[in-house]
This record gives sequence, structure tokens and C-alpha cells, in this order.
Amino acid sequence: MTNYDKINAEFVRSFAHYKDIFPAREDEYCLLGRSNVGKSSFLNHVFNRKHLAKVSKTPGKTSLANYFRLSNNIIWVDLPGYGYAKVNGKEKQRWSRLISDYCEKRKGLQGVIWLLDIRHPGTKIDKEAWMWLRTLDIPVLPVLTKCDKLSKNNAASNGKKYREIFHFTFEPVMYSIVDSGSRERFWKAFYSWRERSGCDK
Ligand code: GDP
Repeated sequence: MTNYDKINAEFVRSFAHYKDIFPAREDEYCLLGRSNVGKSSFLNHVFNRKHLAKVSKTPGKTSLANYFRLSNNIIWVDLPGYGYAKVNGKEKQRWSRLISDYCEKRKGLQGVIWLLDIRHPGTKIDKEAWMWLRTLDIPVLPVLTKCDKLSKNNAASNGKKYREIFHFTFEPVMYSIVDSGSRERFWKAFYSWRERSGCDK
């Protein structure tokens, strides 16, 4: 039985380019999501830490890939948020290159933890990301963020919409950083997804 409070993460380094990232390890996962989806908040909350990742009211602040080592020899790579319009062309190219190179070339990549805002099912940019993700044939664990921003009924209804639009193979995790139960829900889902996807060798 896993003790979810004891799963820790250590920030190792940030990378601006795919070629510089440490050689791939076997048990590696990445975090993907639209800019401002709540990825940094999720990271801090899921590890019960205040400042593991930078939370910002301004979208588009995290433009690097952040490499984390988890206590049980698992690696998480937090990729830059996609879809942020207000950056110049060159920077944007670097970000999207970093994301696509990482996901397309990374041999040790076991799965993608994909964060989606519960309030906006099926945005154009998320649909585009999904079309691309499907071509990669990597297991995806969807996490629907900011669930406290909707009533229970509306969150359930948007969860249904998400399932209808994307036909996820794994049930999405409903997440909110103001609900401590989210943490345990996520870890249970993560370990069962990892087992089911054959990542837990
Ligand atoms: P990132 O750009 O994806 O890393 O997003 P951040 O973690 O910086 O979050 C963007 C904004 O959403 C911040 O103002 C957070 O406080 C807020 N946020 C993130 N997760 C939640 C959540 O579960 N509930 C609420 N109410 N706000 C959240």
C-alpha cells in the first residue's frame, strides 16, 4: 500500500532545449497542458509542497522543461505550457520544439499526464494537442484541473463532455488544489494507470 503523503519530489534542473536534457531513464513521465491550466499549482499540491514549482497569475511564465526526481525512482518532466499567444515568434518556436522533440523522441517516456481545465472542454488548442498525442501512441492520464471553480453538477457535466470529445482510454482525474482529497485520488489513478499501461515493470 502506497503512503501518498510520503511521495516526494526533488527539483533537479531546468532545460531550454531537448538536446540538453539528461539521458532518458526507464520510468519517466511528462506533464503537459495549456499555459495557465494550473500545472505548477498541481505540482505543488500533489507533493504537498509550497514552492516546488512557480505559480503565476500571468500565463506563459514557465518556458523551460523542469526535471523532477520522485522518491521512488520515477522521473517527471514538467514541459512548458502550450498555447500562450503573447510570446515572440522565436521563443514560441523554441517552446513548441522543446515539447514536440521531447514527446516524439524520448525513448524512455512511459506516459503523459495531460492537464485540462475543467471549465473549457474541447478548446481548439487542446483538440490539436490531442490529435498530435494520439499519433505518438503514448499512454495518457487526463487530469481535469480547477474543479472547485464549478458546482458539483457542472463539473460532472463538463467531465462527461471531456470524455465524449476525447474518448480517453483512462478515466480523467478530477483535481482541485483546494480539495486535499484530490491528492489521494490522483496518486491512486497514477499508480493504476502506470500498472495498466505496462509502465510498472
Ligand atoms: P500553469 O501556468 O499551468 O503553471 O498555472 P498555475 O499553476 O500558475 O495556475 C494559474 C492560475 O490558476 C493561478 O492563479 C492559480 O492559483 C490558479 N489555479 C490553479 N489550480 C487551481 C485550482 O485547483 N483551483 C483554483 N481555484 N485555482 C487554481
